[in-house]
Amino acid sequence: MYGQKLFLFDFDGVIVDGMNEYWQSSLLACEKFLNSPNILINDSLRNKVSNTFKEIRPWVKYGWEMVLIAHEILKRENPLNAHTKHNFIKEYNQNCQKILQDNLWLAEDLQKSLDNSRKYQIDKDFEKWVNLHIPFLEVMDFLEKLKQEKIKTAIITTKGKLFAAKIVEKLNIFPEIIIGYESGTKTKIAKELSEKYEIIGFLEDRKKTLIDIKQDNQTKNIPCFLADWGYLKDSDRINLSHDIKLLKLNNLKICLQFS
Ligand SMILES: [Mg+2]
Repeated sequence: MYGQKLFLFDFDGVIVDGMNEYWQSSLLACEKFLNSPNILINDSLRNKVSNTFKEIRPWVKYGWEMVLIAHEILKRENPLNAHTKHNFIKEYNQNCQKILQDNLWLAEDLQKSLDNSRKYQIDKDFEKWVNLHIPFLEVMDFLEKLKQEKIKTAIITTKGKLFAAKIVEKLNIFPEIIIGYESGTKTKIAKELSEKYEIIGFLEDRKKTLIDIKQDNQTKNIPCFLADWGYLKDSDRINLSHDIKLLKLNNLKICLQFS
């Protein structure tokens, strides 16, 4: 019943390290598109990614959460910092919801502000924006190897499809499929793709996403790999269930043995 082989990739933290871009775009979203009167941006925040932001990034699922976190860090009063970070991540989802309510924000509007911030930078200086993303060269080589073996590739990302496509083009890689946040959850997307393709692997750096794939009857047979080089929480590497394999950047080829 199976046809063409397909390998699924997450994008951020798997194919590229975009930490500089997440911070710059979130900061600009707060400054220019959210018009928040409560923030104060000094040169040091503008020029260097906040450590607190870096440390919280593994908890992020959708782009809008990065805008919310950046806003907390940039706040004039009671900003989120190294000391208050721990409480923030302890109840991450509840805290994000509470901050939305306190500011009378909608997640969709924060996402729009992030998308607008990216569009603005692309229009202004595309090269500068795209160069904020650093590709993982070993993954570039692995994509090339898949191509040689006639295995198709799909990028499924919680980024907007348009932005992922622009970076992919710059990196000179040619996935057959790119699917962005507009198309629903990754489990739903994987289900749809599995009706058409034989999915031989899913490489992702968000453990919960892989657990969801393994818990769904239609997708549980997809071989799942957690990217050790991505934005992982320390706890992600321990207590990993046997059906999700931790993959090292220097040993990517091993995942083809499971197909
Ligand atoms: Mg990721």
